[in-house]
Amino acid sequence: MSYLEELINYLKNKNPNEPEFVQAAEEFLEAVVPFISNHKKYDGTNILHRIIEPERIVMFRVPWLDDKGNQCVNRGYRVEYNSAIGPYKGGLRFHPSVNLSILKFLGFEQIFKNALTGLPMGGGKGGSDFDPKGKSDNEVMKFCQSFMLELSRHIGPNTDVPAGDIGVGGREIGYMFGQYKRIKNEFTGVLTGKGANWGGSLIRPEATGYGLIYFLVEMLSAQDIDIRNKSVAISGSGNVAQYACKKLIELGAKVITLSDSSGHIYDPNGIDSKKLEYVFELKGVRRGRISEYADKFDCSFSKGTPWGVPCDIALPCATQNELTHSDAQKLIQNNCLAVAEGANMPSTAGAINEFQKNKILFAPGKASNAGGVAVSGLEMSQNSLRMNWPSEEVDNKLKEIMKNIHSICVKYGSQKDYIDYVKGANIGGFIKIADSMLDQGLV
Ligand code: NDP
Repeated sequence: MSYLEELINYLKNKNPNEPEFVQAAEEFLEAVVPFISNHKKYDGTNILHRIIEPERIVMFRVPWLDDKGNQCVNRGYRVEYNSAIGPYKGGLRFHPSVNLSILKFLGFEQIFKNALTGLPMGGGKGGSDFDPKGKSDNEVMKFCQSFMLELSRHIGPNTDVPAGDIGVGGREIGYMFGQYKRIKNEFTGVLTGKGANWGGSLIRPEATGYGLIYFLVEMLSAQDIDIRNKSVAISGSGNVAQYACKKLIELGAKVITLSDSSGHIYDPNGIDSKKLEYVFELKGVRRGRISEYADKFDCSFSKGTPWGVPCDIALPCATQNELTHSDAQKLIQNNCLAVAEGANMPSTAGAINEFQKNKILFAPGKASNAGGVAVSGLEMSQNSLRMNWPSEEVDNKLKEIMKNIHSICVKYGSQKDYIDYVKGANIGGFIKIADSMLDQGLV
């Protein structure tokens, strides 16, 4: 049995019933094992077994009262995965599908993503199976306050700094920050994604979507491809999808799809700035369904994901495993040039394999969606300095970071006639984490 097979067996036996976590770790091991076999300094360190084990996981009960006075309970989590290069850093997800497997996969990916940004941030992730959909503001506030009452024991500006993710936007961060401040009697940068009036960084809401497009532009430029007039299929219609769409419109590309958990819209005329304003209001303020877009702008709405729509570029920006092997085949048949992940692990292993086999440009989320956490890192710096940087300065730093991540991927992922961004991102992230862990001894 090869070392890789041995490791994957160990991973599966040690983490039964955690398919998403195993999927993420397997992809990483497949990229990194051939690399460490050629680098003697890792011999005898058991570094891969150490990296795949989280430093700490907290699970807790979150009791709260709904508007009718019913006593409700959800489960809260924080996975503090790796602190080799800085305080644990990663978002909180509120979604009914949240479980330990999903948060471990997200926390694991976060370690290498954060390392790629070049900023001093460890990896973590957390959240709850609480579903904010259909809840009143008052119920969301009560839930957030109860969640933070327990989480506050485990986090801190130099220990663990959570941010948003699916179901956790400015509103939820606000309620959690208020409660943390009240419990600790301290005004500190313990969460990122804060409001601009109370310590938030400019460009943080835009950062993941903008960063994704900056990375995509680098990827296309490396092949002498211009983004102007390219048709782009985006899934999702939340934070990442909205700002990716905004930047694409600015750069002259044509966005033809958006989606949510009920289906996707296909607008062959393209989503322009005015239509996008409507989406911001629909999803961000009214918390409505994307099907309303189709009614308003007289275009089609269908169930399922948008990957059957012919496009030059596909940007999955909704959730994990939303782009399958057969979706990849459809995209390839329709002559798609490039796929860049805005979401975390939206493509299944089979889909990635299909893209790579067909030499389609493919960027994994841990590289292409790192812009969000990068600006969260910049928010932490601004909070420590007690300063606010202008948006142009933050945006320029974001561009620079995405460019650097692209260069790291090229450095470690270049092959004769193809750049393997999956290999490049995993090895680039691994080196920084592994070497820091070796420097710090067996802890
Ligand atoms: P939002 O909550 O703002 O939006 C999520 C979008 O995805 C919504 O359109 C939602 O539809 C859709 N969605 C969620 N779950 C599912 C599902 N199971 N099936 C189909 N559609 C679904 O989240 P974000 O935009 O912040 O996050 C999107 C992705 O990007 C996630 O994978 C997240 O981890 C990743 N990411 C986010 C970052 C950030 O800074 N926000 C940073 C890096 C990665 P509906 O409205 O119906 O729920």
